[in-house]
Amino acid sequence: MAKKKMILDLDTGVDDALALAYALATPDADLIGVVSSFGNTQVETAAQNTLKLLELLGKSDVPVFVGAAHSSTTDNFETMQVSMDIHGKNAIGDVDLPDPKTTPATTSAVDFLIASAHQYADDLVVVPTGPLTNLAAAFKKDPQIADLIGNITLMGGALVVPGNVTSYTEANINQDPKAADYVFKHAKHLVMVGLDVTLQTLLTKQETQQWRDLGTEKGRVFADIFDYYIDAYYNLDINKAGAALHDPLAVGVAVDPNFVTLLPLNMMVDVNDGRTIGDPSRLRDPHKNNYVAVEVDEPFYLERFMNYTLAVLS
Ligand code: CA
Repeated sequence: MAKKKMILDLDTGVDDALALAYALATPDADLIGVVSSFGNTQVETAAQNTLKLLELLGKSDVPVFVGAAHSSTTDNFETMQVSMDIHGKNAIGDVDLPDPKTTPATTSAVDFLIASAHQYADDLVVVPTGPLTNLAAAFKKDPQIADLIGNITLMGGALVVPGNVTSYTEANINQDPKAADYVFKHAKHLVMVGLDVTLQTLLTKQETQQWRDLGTEKGRVFADIFDYYIDAYYNLDINKAGAALHDPLAVGVAVDPNFVTLLPLNMMVDVNDGRTIGDPSRLRDPHKNNYVAVEVDEPFYLERFMNYTLAVLS
């Protein structure tokens, strides 16, 4: 079996940074590019953050593509105050990193997704950890690719737990419910790693101290970035036990679904309230194209997560 090719679609905030580190560390996939999106921050900031982090990690050869600046149903985007409270004003915990030497690719995010789908088909794994605007736009520009991309594993949604924006709505889906609905319905194979499982997967300062103890610049930077997030979770009373590994869990599941239990369920997104639920018109379809992670083995995942991050930050 050919090694999987992975594309991350990041709105590069704190947990996206760890998704990037995990993707670089896993031996089960080659990271062939990172697409950027609005979400935790503006799309330009997301792209710059990705370039800075890639440089810090010595992986500037991974190309970065600029994606959507706003949702498919709006013509501008302002970063929400709550995003800045959780991720910092620069979205990476207000940690200053040098300006990157590299610049984003000239190809658009949509065209990169389309070309990669044709090139790698079943061997391509796309992991969006922000809004699904880029992927929906790519599906609409070239409808063939919805049936080509072997695996889309996204961070977003909430099936059996409350949302984190409203009691129904999770933040990534909330940014562009219409795009998300389109992707859920048209993807060949889509796995939803939502709040149901990411809120069961927490990191604490005990783990970030292990990065710090490596004595490397990379270890210190990632510890500073994630400690900002842990403090925000504590101070905003989101969770006092630690901060959720939302985005890196999606990357983990994308290459190894054994971390979670998957419920086969054809889904939709209620475009009015952003709720991720079963699609009544497709419930009885014996062919399932959506799978929802409903259980996670936290110790198993955390052990892998720490092995990978300690390796990449050494
Ligand atoms: Ca994200």
